[in-house]
Amino acid sequence: MLLEVNDLHVNYGAIKAVKGISFYVEKGEIVTLIGANGAGKTTTLRTITGLEHAASGTIHFKDKDITNIAPHRIVEMGITHVPEGRRIFTNLTVMENLKMAALLRKDPEGKKASYEEVFELFPRLKERRMQPSITLSGGEQQMLAVGRAIVTGGDLVVLDEPSMGLAPKIVDEIFEVIQRMNQEGKTILLNEQNAFMALSVANRAYVLETGNITIEGPAKDLLTDPRVKEAYLGS
Ligand code: ATP
Repeated sequence: MLLEVNDLHVNYGAIKAVKGISFYVEKGEIVTLIGANGAGKTTTLRTITGLEHAASGTIHFKDKDITNIAPHRIVEMGITHVPEGRRIFTNLTVMENLKMAALLRKDPEGKKASYEEVFELFPRLKERRMQPSITLSGGEQQMLAVGRAIVTGGDLVVLDEPSMGLAPKIVDEIFEVIQRMNQEGKTILLNEQNAFMALSVANRAYVLETGNITIEGPAKDLLTDPRVKEAYLGS
């Protein structure tokens, strides 16, 4: 097992955002967390990557306990986070953003190859590599955020709402890249409000409702589960 979350609780003061969830991700899988606004998806991802504090429970990655350790150490161990709202450095160029993402990498050859890989996946970023990122469209900024994850080079890529605010065509493009990253060896944990897209690409899925996991199983089963259809697939 690559990632194992066990009985995780996360609070913001008196607010109990995550109330004892357990789930796992095997190497090579795409696993998705779906659920309504405020269900606790972002909090869960941020706790895995060390940005929020777990009140109790454990998180293991590659059999090591990573609960509440510093975010930079979690990156070094091989978890890369693509946060909600993209969080690129808008005053830097596309290339500078990619170089920043490579700062923790210690293999110059791999670093160079990863820039090429990003430009191959997203030719639009290659054309715009000297452009300040603030001039990119929303979709291009999301491509850059995903590109940064590729350059960082972790084994597990944690993506928070990659489709948010993007036009359907761009969403398709981003999901194609997520699948390609997976085929090339990355394990993916995806938090996504677009349940149909998420379940279409994932191997397994967990439904979060107000801090609890209420449904789990193979993604293709959830696509036809009446409870999921009614609450999350609009039919
Ligand atoms: P969304 O899709 O809207 O981002 P989510 O499933 O990711 O939703 P979270 O963002 O994890 O949900 O929020 C879970 C709960 O924790 C919500 O009730 C939210 O209001 C609360 N919450 C999140 N961040 C904070 C914070 N920094 N301080 C206080 N409460 C917070």
